[in-house]
Amino acid sequence: MERVVIGFFLAFFLLEFLVEFVLNELNMLWVRKRRGENSVPPFFEGKMSAEGYGKSVDYTLAKGEFQRWADLYGRSVTLFVLFGGVLPLLDRVSQNLASRIPPSTQATGIVFCLATGLCFSILSLPTELYATFGIEARFGFNKTTWKLYLTDKLKGFLLGLVIGVPFLFAVLWLMEAAGYYWWLWVFLFVFAFQFLMLILYPTLIAPLFNKFEPLKDGELRQRILALADQVGLKTGGIYTMDGSKRSTHSNAYFTGVGKSKRIVLFDTLLKQMTLEQGLAVLAHEMGHYKMKHVRRMLVFQSIFLLLGLYFLSLLVDYEPLFRAFGLERPSNYGALVLLSLLSGPATFYLTPLLNLLSRKHEYEADRFAARVIKDGKPMEEALILLTVKNLSNLTPHPWYSAYHYSHPTTVERINAIRQAAG
Ligand SMILES: [Zn+2]
Repeated sequence: MERVVIGFFLAFFLLEFLVEFVLNELNMLWVRKRRGENSVPPFFEGKMSAEGYGKSVDYTLAKGEFQRWADLYGRSVTLFVLFGGVLPLLDRVSQNLASRIPPSTQATGIVFCLATGLCFSILSLPTELYATFGIEARFGFNKTTWKLYLTDKLKGFLLGLVIGVPFLFAVLWLMEAAGYYWWLWVFLFVFAFQFLMLILYPTLIAPLFNKFEPLKDGELRQRILALADQVGLKTGGIYTMDGSKRSTHSNAYFTGVGKSKRIVLFDTLLKQMTLEQGLAVLAHEMGHYKMKHVRRMLVFQSIFLLLGLYFLSLLVDYEPLFRAFGLERPSNYGALVLLSLLSGPATFYLTPLLNLLSRKHEYEADRFAARVIKDGKPMEEALILLTVKNLSNLTPHPWYSAYHYSHPTTVERINAIRQAAG
């Protein structure tokens, strides 16, 4: 039976790899061909110089070529961890380390899960470093210094311990103590935990990494408050964030629930946009909130989580699954780690579906923004500006964008805004 398990896994694993590899190659061919056809794609004529367009093509191709090798490397790492004896080694080490820490079952599980996570973080360092300090720096986006990179890593690691240890303890304890329906209890716990994070993230966690300052009083602040009032949105405050200390990519977002709900504007966005364009971006974000997109996504994710946990409950004692990946006997913690490593094939089918839903939400939020501002122009200008500044791919292959893109392309979005305006 172990062979069947391994066979199934490898078949899905290879299929996913092939699909993503082919999509990436198609996308690069497509982009190269479009560049050969004319200077600047029709939609961006006059908005972008031929030089800027060339740079955006170079950026897309550099990322695509990097992706080719990064994906190959990442997949080799996964295969190495699953079949190279890493899991049994970590299992032995955690049993030795944790056997004297009470309660030892949970302690072993926590050490095993954290050790596997640490193992992946270390092995993914080379690609992460090259992406940040190689490509992003080459195209002038990266502002992260080595010192900042290291302190970010250290903070992330400590935060992972502070949050991860109690979280894993609760999950492992429920798996052991809650009887047949443990998967339902774990689901309820994770659901409540996510909700707690929605409150803690903007108020306690994000400020560990960035400086948040209330937006100074002035025309922008007044106009944002008026806009929030107009659409009937209560906010816990408007903040600016020093995004520029890591990257020149720009953004704005809403975060939190209830009283902790806040609007966050990257300082990079404030620098790049006019007041009208910035307001259009915020109106779009308010649209996501008003139309309950975040909540809907959360519901979908919760359904998948519940299904995943139920599935796990069926496999938690299935010995061939554990033996296939070198673990001597079934264990709750082993099941957790295997599920997260093997969930790739499931998310592989979900990614395009969730992206389809996300793109639908983007169209709705764009229409919402154009409606409350009573003018589609500022939104169009903001979209073009963001595309130009971020050197986004102007001509992605349709299959590639259908699979990978959580946002429609700028051309699609502007067409939709104009269509809605009639
Ligand atoms: Zn959006």
